[in-house]
Amino acid sequence: MPEEIVSRILRLPGYGVYAWEAEELTGTLTLWIRQTASEPYHVCRGCGISVRDVHSWTERRVRDLPWGTWQVWLVVEVHRVRCRRCGVRTERLPFLAGKAHSTARLETAVAQDCEAAPVSRVAAKWGLPPETVRRMDKRVLHRWAAGRPRVPLRDLGVDEIYLGKRDKFLTVVSDLERGEPLWVGLERKRETLDRFFAEALPPGRRRTVRAVCVDMWEPFVQSLRAHLPHTRIVYDKFHVLRHVNDALDETRRAEFFRKGGHARGLLRGKRWVLLRRWAHLERDERRLVKELLALNRRLAKAYLLKEQLAHLWDYTYEGAARRFLITWLRALRWQRLPAFQKVAKLLLRHLDGILAYCHEKVPFGKVEAINGNIRAMLRRGRGYRDHEYLLLKVQKATAERRRLLRAA
Ligand SMILES: [Zn+2]
Repeated sequence: MPEEIVSRILRLPGYGVYAWEAEELTGTLTLWIRQTASEPYHVCRGCGISVRDVHSWTERRVRDLPWGTWQVWLVVEVHRVRCRRCGVRTERLPFLAGKAHSTARLETAVAQDCEAAPVSRVAAKWGLPPETVRRMDKRVLHRWAAGRPRVPLRDLGVDEIYLGKRDKFLTVVSDLERGEPLWVGLERKRETLDRFFAEALPPGRRRTVRAVCVDMWEPFVQSLRAHLPHTRIVYDKFHVLRHVNDALDETRRAEFFRKGGHARGLLRGKRWVLLRRWAHLERDERRLVKELLALNRRLAKAYLLKEQLAHLWDYTYEGAARRFLITWLRALRWQRLPAFQKVAKLLLRHLDGILAYCHEKVPFGKVEAINGNIRAMLRRGRGYRDHEYLLLKVQKATAERRRLLRAA
């Protein structure tokens, strides 16, 4: 093979091929490369200065990008140098990915494929074990994350994702301004959130946090009060409304069992149309809701209460919001709606955190969106037992989406 064309294909400036071997059977091409300069120099891994004084050297075999149908391996001399600042250190080669058995450019290409396809498929394409692909992807993501500017945190979100019977819950802490997760941890205990503060939010970074949007889950609240004593806790609107929806559904079921015959048939399977916000319904869905409510007075009252409560978050003044909520609570006092009585107690117990929204308009929708992004990633990757990897994947995907939106 003419050396020149080989070195051109290789495209590692300053390096040339001095020996090669092609193995037809496995389609493997091995190239021995070294610096072409007459007086080669080496870069100290410790401090980055150029060194000429070589202490010793070894050969390393690393996988590179393929050439046509050939799988390419490079054999490269890695020197240990005598640096005048650091002593004897290994040299840094720009095209190697740390101590990995692959070049940085192969790693980048594999990681790029991992953005759009599951690890198993990427592994099959490159002829690499899935574990190796995952490691490569994670290393590239780590480098990306390390290069990002660190911004002060203002609004935090704490939420959980139900994983299933075996692993139960994943706690997710998010940066609501960037709209991306900051940390994830298994379970949803007070200790889980304590761990977040210990691992990811040192005291120096806590001061800028203005508000935390959280679900009415006591263990989380306890941890937040302990670690962020001056931060306002705002209860998540969607979680509050979920409790109200559950109460409406319980009422529907109770009425459904009480009634016989015709009415029973009408209420069956009408769950979703009742739980969805009136404003989001199509015209024929609205007609259906009206028919259902005309049938049962108690269900009609429950529906009205559900629809009304959503307006609580329209208020800007705490006094007005408080008056609105008290009127709402009073309206259900004489109704025989046990499920709603339970919700009323819950709301009263968490009143301050619900009304806190008047002072800190945290973006509730973002908590839901981040949660959705993580669930989508979990579905695609079948598992993601490695939570650090999961976190990096979602962060990268979110940043990428934001970049595309800005460019559009
Ligand atoms: Zn050095």
